[in-house]
Amino acid sequence: MNRPKSALTLLWLGLSAVAGFAQPVFAKDTVLNLYSARHYQTDEALYSNFTKQTGIRINRIEAGDEALLERLRNEGKNSPADVVLLVDAARLWKAQIEGLFQPLDSALLKNRIPEHLRARDDGKGSEWFAISTRARAIVYNKEKIDPSLVRNYEDLARPELKGKVCTRSGMHPYMLSLIGAMSEHLGQAAAEHWAKGVVANFARSPRGGDTDQIKAVASGECAVALTNTYYLARLMRSKKPQDQQIVAKVGVVMPNQSSWGTHVNVSGGGIAHAAPHREAAVTFLEYLASDQAQIYLADGNNEWPVVASAKINNPALESLGQFKADRLPISAIGRSQMEAAKIIDRVRWR
Ligand code: FE
Repeated sequence: MNRPKSALTLLWLGLSAVAGFAQPVFAKDTVLNLYSARHYQTDEALYSNFTKQTGIRINRIEAGDEALLERLRNEGKNSPADVVLLVDAARLWKAQIEGLFQPLDSALLKNRIPEHLRARDDGKGSEWFAISTRARAIVYNKEKIDPSLVRNYEDLARPELKGKVCTRSGMHPYMLSLIGAMSEHLGQAAAEHWAKGVVANFARSPRGGDTDQIKAVASGECAVALTNTYYLARLMRSKKPQDQQIVAKVGVVMPNQSSWGTHVNVSGGGIAHAAPHREAAVTFLEYLASDQAQIYLADGNNEWPVVASAKINNPALESLGQFKADRLPISAIGRSQMEAAKIIDRVRWR
């Protein structure tokens, strides 16, 4: 029977068309088992909003990326996971080649997410896509160095920077992805030569996370370091005086603007290989690509949306300005991590 649609339904249909998210009807007791390596409190609103809109309850299991991958492997075909969200292209790629995702086949996602931010294994059909992006920036101590010396990642190997460079361990996925991208652009031999030059410039042996690198630059222990932009934006938005003091001391460079662009990494996800609730999983992933969810996802952790129409209002990210981002496909970044790991070993970037 064709009943006339209520004003509310029409309004909803209109809004979903605008947001690019069509909402199928689910029974109230439908659940979605989400394995997530995202651990940002700001994601709470994102999930509760999904349940409000669809009636699908989310059972969330949060753990580190490696722990989640291990759990999926152990559970095998009996895994209750429907959707897996991970952080970093290298780890997502690992999940892809191990067949831990399945095909998505969503026209909506193909439409809304740029091609270089989607990946698919031709053999296993294992598919995933990015849900937010972060850039790997150079931070420098404003009193210690002229920023014209560090316009590009390649500059970190310049002899003038001897004893001035800090990084975290080269084995960390954020570094593996960057070094992998360098290898894609420069070729393996030149990337290794570069990595050797960076190691020769270390102010100290690699340690700590990205925030520790920013702090070491502010304290003057090193003149330059690398960090993901969201760690920097988090300090910029902090009200704590000690964080403000750190921010005042450091300058930021979005590298390689006159060549291939600043290296960009992602958080992303896909449908788990044995998903018991496949339909709910597709609905959830399509929801993540809606403008509203994109804004929650990106702004909550000071990242950029992957959907062009989602506009965030984040003064810290705005202060970094418009920049040219590297458009290397995320699958190529993931794939190149094996090569990157060998380079790290050979040049002892540990
Ligand atoms: Fe991080």
